[in-house]
Amino acid sequence: MSVLKIEDLQVSVETEQGTKQILRGVDLTIGQGETHAIMGPNGSGKSTLAYAIAGHPKYHVEGGSVTLDGEEMLDLSVDERARAGLFLAMQYPVEIPGVSNANFLRTAKTAIDGAAPPIRSWLKEVDAAMSGLRMDKSFRERNVNEGFSGGEKKRNEILQLELLKPKFAVLDETDSGLDVDALKIVSEGVNRAKEATGMGVLLITHYNRILRYVKPDFVHVFVAGKVAEQGGPELAVRLENEGYDRFLEGSTVG
Ligand code: ADP
Ligand code: MG
Ligand code: MG
Repeated sequence: MSVLKIEDLQVSVETEQGTKQILRGVDLTIGQGETHAIMGPNGSGKSTLAYAIAGHPKYHVEGGSVTLDGEEMLDLSVDERARAGLFLAMQYPVEIPGVSNANFLRTAKTAIDGAAPPIRSWLKEVDAAMSGLRMDKSFRERNVNEGFSGGEKKRNEILQLELLKPKFAVLDETDSGLDVDALKIVSEGVNRAKEATGMGVLLITHYNRILRYVKPDFVHVFVAGKVAEQGGPELAVRLENEGYDRFLEGSTVG
């Protein structure tokens, strides 16, 4: 049983006004095969949590730990974390001019597995994943995310997820900006990856609608840099109806 364990995580960033504390002691344990949703207001630090787990250099860890099966991830580089089994689907996927999607995927797969995948089975796998996500074949030769629409970028993140097969995936607002059809297609991709690998998922979202397709086992309310409340799927419904006001009283989010 794989476990991703986040304990008392404290993270700051440097801003023009000085050091800003963003995460204020996050505790979260995700077991293999579990889906945890994180919901919270804008600016509460959800993306910071995602970046800190993945190892973005802008986010300074002031304290706490993130372990995968007991191994400290915070000591590892970004690519070592990926090799250990972590994956981040970014809220705003970056464009990589000059690098084709096909090349990028194969290079990433090779780096993570430690050996290049056999070419014929790999191409079949890429084709199957792309058609599952209703991505035209032309996306293989296009540069990573360059000129992609918002929805196409999100599908491309899930394409990476399905092909790289992490132990734990952090999905940062993968549902934002998707129409109903795209939301369903992307959700099905997440569910296929879950079924294929038994991965654990940390799903950051503002909306209950994705949680109708990707069913969470736990829902965490994230406010002012930490988990303010946890519950089951019913908590997501309540948040959508009632908003975050009740959690914001007395918080320092401005
Ligand atoms: P969320 O994803 O919940 O909307 P973020 O993690 O993106 O929140 O941001 C949390 C807070 O940290 C915000 O006030 C944001 O402006 C600030 N912040 C995040 N990243 C940076 C950065 N690189 N430089 C300065 N401030 C940042
Ligand atoms: Mg936000
Ligand atoms: Mg965010």
